[in-house]
Amino acid sequence: MQNDRQTRARRHARALRTMVVALTTTLATGSVGAQVTAIKAGRLVDPETGAIATNQVILLERGKFTAVGANLTIPTGAEVIDLSALTVLPGLVDAHNHLALTYKDIPERNNYYITSILDPTPLRAIQAVSNGIQMLASGFTIIRDMGNSGNYADVALRQAIEQGWVPGPTIIPSGLIIGGMGGQFSPTPEMAMDRKIVYPEYLEADTRDEIVKAVRQNALFGAQVIKICVDCKPWGYTVDEIRLVIAEAAKAGLKVEGHVQTIDGGKRAVEAGIWSIAHDIGMTDALHKQMAQKGVWRAGTETPISLTGHTTQAAYEQTVAMLRNAWENKTPLTFSTDADYYVPGKTRGEVAIEFIETWKAAKIPNADILRAMTISGYRVSETEKTRGPIKAGMWADLIAVPGNPLERIDALRDVRFVMKNGLVFKRDGVMVPAAFFNGGPVNGWNAR
Ligand SMILES: [Zn+2]
Repeated sequence: MQNDRQTRARRHARALRTMVVALTTTLATGSVGAQVTAIKAGRLVDPETGAIATNQVILLERGKFTAVGANLTIPTGAEVIDLSALTVLPGLVDAHNHLALTYKDIPERNNYYITSILDPTPLRAIQAVSNGIQMLASGFTIIRDMGNSGNYADVALRQAIEQGWVPGPTIIPSGLIIGGMGGQFSPTPEMAMDRKIVYPEYLEADTRDEIVKAVRQNALFGAQVIKICVDCKPWGYTVDEIRLVIAEAAKAGLKVEGHVQTIDGGKRAVEAGIWSIAHDIGMTDALHKQMAQKGVWRAGTETPISLTGHTTQAAYEQTVAMLRNAWENKTPLTFSTDADYYVPGKTRGEVAIEFIETWKAAKIPNADILRAMTISGYRVSETEKTRGPIKAGMWADLIAVPGNPLERIDALRDVRFVMKNGLVFKRDGVMVPAAFFNGGPVNGWNAR
């Protein structure tokens, strides 16, 4: 009996060891096998330098790039992907989107207060999966999701993608937007006080204690960046209060983006030393200069006039002029869309890529547009050391287009090939996401 028990105990210990080793290996390697893949790139763009190299070979293994160069030997048995007729470049970044929000003309007249009543979080989470897939199909491999995502649907999306349930871009979720009473809503007293209609669209934080608690709530529930309303209401946040948010977020290793809609709000956000500013309404020449000096990212969300009904001619002209002004001042620019609505006939990705029209109108050189869409996007998302550039050691994300986006930025409208984490998502212009769908969390259950 005693011996039996010892044998059983030994067997259990052995089984446990095997399990731990298997688990550790799985966690270390992800779901991707040790198969070597070689990509033949006809042209390879380095957005950092604006240089194009021809006839490059890109090797990858276990989801990460291992080598890039002209004279690499393709190992025997490697899977070869021939993109020699295309231009290969790193994935694009939308530094401001809301994948779990889709407001529409019908029935809500593009009023997302109504959307938040109509669409429960589970439906919005499913929309987020679909929108993420649509963004990935257009070449966006990283999205900063800046709130208005119901009850943390953005975090759930990130988990689902990272665990290996569904394909999608790398998501940088912000959780709930923190703002003073009311957030961006103007609810009736009964809806606000009796029905708590503002939550979960906004976390109302008016006092210093509430601000600290709100930041901690977001960090606890998986936010990777903190989003605040600097001036959504006349009470807004003071410089000191913004500094409190920044300090509290820093404890969890998080940066802070401020929604800014007034010049005074812009001044307070820049003075407080915020990480990034959303929207261009509160921007001025002087602020652009200060942002350049302090390294504050501009996520201007420059809506093109071609997205009828989502901007006005006057607002568009101002937006184009201020984008140009920001570029002239060397303000750190990101490509950011705030594309959180349905445009009939277009995917979410096609709506997002349409924003290059504003950049073209502002006469930003193609190399700088591309830099904003890639290098700056990785930096504002803080992925630049793990994901973005096509370099050995980085996660294997890349896209390919016909033509040369440095000569004609509209080439980005026709993304023919997308790879994410070393898995092919789109080939010959068609989504082929089979490798991304799994019956369980193949990359580990504990992504948070
Ligand atoms: Zn937004």
